Amino acid sequence: MPESPLELLDQIEASALSALGAVEAEDSLEAWRVAHLGRSSPLMGVFDRLGGLPKEERPAIGRRANEVKRLLESALAERAALLRQQALERTLLGERLDVTLPGRARPRGRLHISNQTLRQIYRIFAEMGFQVYRSRDVETDEYNFQLLNFPPHHPAREMQDSYYIQAPHAADNPIVLRTHTSPGQIRAMREYSAADPGNPPPVRIILPGMCYRYEQVTARSEVQFNQVEGLAVGEGITFSDLKGTLSDFARRMFGQGVRTRFRAAHFPFTEPSAEMDVECFVCGGVGCPVCKRAGWLEVLGCGMVHPVVLSNGGYAPERYTGFAFGMGSERLAMLRYRIEDIRYFWGNDIRFLEQF
Ligand SMILES: [Zn+2]
Repeated sequence: MPESPLELLDQIEASALSALGAVEAEDSLEAWRVAHLGRSSPLMGVFDRLGGLPKEERPAIGRRANEVKRLLESALAERAALLRQQALERTLLGERLDVTLPGRARPRGRLHISNQTLRQIYRIFAEMGFQVYRSRDVETDEYNFQLLNFPPHHPAREMQDSYYIQAPHAADNPIVLRTHTSPGQIRAMREYSAADPGNPPPVRIILPGMCYRYEQVTARSEVQFNQVEGLAVGEGITFSDLKGTLSDFARRMFGQGVRTRFRAAHFPFTEPSAEMDVECFVCGGVGCPVCKRAGWLEVLGCGMVHPVVLSNGGYAPERYTGFAFGMGSERLAMLRYRIEDIRYFWGNDIRFLEQF
């Protein structure tokens, strides 16, 4: 036991300070404060006992006890500040960014090959004064077939096995997912002619979009594909305009030197009708597996708009003529990039998509 209260205070100070020096974590400081400055601490015991001391000793011991208390309080504040500073430094060190590390590459997206092809077709026709006209995917039998000169039971419907939708009261006009973009011809002509029925304005549009057919999915046929339809209606439009427009399209799409040829064909909504071939750009016309040794590749169907179709669109066939054409944009991409299987387009295989 210490000889005197002053010695006791020296001892309290020394042991409290040494205990404080051993505190390494901020949240242990409170325990130290309770032990050395709290109600039951030895220091507070000295204050409690002051009244029982001889009167002449009290002032000196009281002064010294207060001094120890202030000293311990300020030592506590210093230690707290020091520990906070150290914690901050540890955090900064641990979370430091190394700006010299190479960044993580962010993969870049791209347009699907079908959209790339479509946009190229839009651009070429836009340069020739055609506008893009968007028509609906869900059609009625009337627009998809009847108004385009495919009456019910017409054999040409057989070529377009179709998705019909069951709807009440449809009768002989069922709802169908469009099998071609041609119903848009009627919708566009009716919209244009409604603006001025006595004197309908000329039409120069392309109609792109997805078409749907109930097909067995094979390397050459899919249940959905993009078509781009074109329609030009006005006074004095001839087959020469059709040939000139489409030959120019082929040159811009496949190369300035490409040759084209037109073969007679049949479509119910054009008369006369033709198919356009381009000289095989793989072999230059000599014959190869892509063109099946023919030297030519079929790229689109076309023809002069049938008078019945013109009239259904609100354009008097005695005064107006026009031409129309349609092409499959996936088919064009297949020819161009020698893609052998149409199923790749919607297969979502990144190894295929990344090639374009
Ligand atoms: Zn060839």
